[in-house]
Amino acid sequence: MSSKLALYGGPKAVQTPPGDIFTWPIVTKEDEEAVLEVLRRGAMSGTDVTKLYEQEFAEWQGTRYALACNNGTSALFCAFFGCKIGVGDEVICPSLTYWASATPAYAMGATPVFAEVDPNTLCIDPNDIEHRITDRTKAILVVHYVGHPADMDPIMEIARKHNLKVIEDVSHAQGGLYKGRKLGSIGDVGAMSLMSGKSFAIGEGGMLVTDDREIYERAIAYGHYERYTLDNIQTEDLKPYVGLPLGGQKLRMHQLSSAMGRVQLKYYDERMARIREAMNYFWDLLEGVPGLRPHRVPKDSGSTMAGWYAPRGIYVPEELEGLSVTQFTRAVRAEGVACSPGANKPLHLHPLFNTCDVYGHGKPTRIANSTRDLRQPPGSLPITEGLGRRLYTIPWFKYLDKKIIEEHALAYRKAAENYKELLKDDPGDPPSLGGWGLFSQLQQQ
Ligand SMILES: *Cc1c(COP(=O)(O)O)cnc(C)c1O
Repeated sequence: MSSKLALYGGPKAVQTPPGDIFTWPIVTKEDEEAVLEVLRRGAMSGTDVTKLYEQEFAEWQGTRYALACNNGTSALFCAFFGCKIGVGDEVICPSLTYWASATPAYAMGATPVFAEVDPNTLCIDPNDIEHRITDRTKAILVVHYVGHPADMDPIMEIARKHNLKVIEDVSHAQGGLYKGRKLGSIGDVGAMSLMSGKSFAIGEGGMLVTDDREIYERAIAYGHYERYTLDNIQTEDLKPYVGLPLGGQKLRMHQLSSAMGRVQLKYYDERMARIREAMNYFWDLLEGVPGLRPHRVPKDSGSTMAGWYAPRGIYVPEELEGLSVTQFTRAVRAEGVACSPGANKPLHLHPLFNTCDVYGHGKPTRIANSTRDLRQPPGSLPITEGLGRRLYTIPWFKYLDKKIIEEHALAYRKAAENYKELLKDDPGDPPSLGGWGLFSQLQQQ
């Protein structure tokens, strides 16, 4: 049994100052020089650096095309339009995600249909997809949630059988692998955020990647008007409208971001590998501790946790006589670790997906173009709804420093092993845990 809990007056598990082990992104002189070059040249709104970044990114990603956008949300809008999501269509997606995975549907006149996630991977459950498919279903959107790859093989099989597009939201898992294949290159199109809080961090930015020429051209047509010209477009349907954006949007990447992105790309794989080494060490230290389960891929599976963005642990209160995650994380915090319960709140419980009439249809936007009521009330996705009470944040180490990592792991071990003491003044969990964004939670830590 570990020593007395700091919550009740014992010594804190974490004693060593963290130094730069949590600092992210890593910005060097090389990033600064690249950004200054654009700034001094006054080329912030150009596309020359961005096009180089796209070429290098596509090569790294292993896709034919990459299209840079001003943020990940925009890349997702382009991906939805690229897949011809339109009025009355349905897109099956997880409810446990950041809102931008689902909100592009509304702009296209479509609606999201939320599916459960697997409680171990936290990604869309392949067994909860097929029964939600109707003749209006156009696409499946998967999120490789907080670094964990979604189970793509069965998802692709379902999609091919029903002639659906697959959009991968890679915002949490840039550069990650699923059975040796790069995330974002398995479905029809990948879209990802590259904002400063993500593991691939370049400022504000997003990237769309695909092998599909038509998706790529439609993405250009949606929000990159200055590149929507006859020399770039082969798709007949798109030719008559060149010159103006079909989506009425202007979504190109800021070149200060592209300049930083080119530098970050050179070091990204190496930095991710260091993160994974550190994070795996943390979980190895906690192996077998009751109540705590790692959220990670099996060793030698050919899959990876990418840059292990916004990492979480899985909490099993049944093994701790029902100790609430609220009380558990309170004890961990007292040990000197910024630890909070929950993750993204389930989207299907927000009024935007139930009552809000965004565009003045005279009825909720969710069902504006539907022939049946697709709204999903509380209780409709019990696994997803219960996950706030089964997840907690863990530190996002950027490199292996055994001493610091061991102290942090000890904080979690102490809280779990002394759970009986914690039961005495357990306030229980509030009705809802987590937030609408992970980055804001990270910043609060
Ligand atoms: C961050 C994020 C986005 C949106 O990206 P931005 O660059 O913030 O617009 C989309 N999907 C997921 C899952 C995200 O975490």
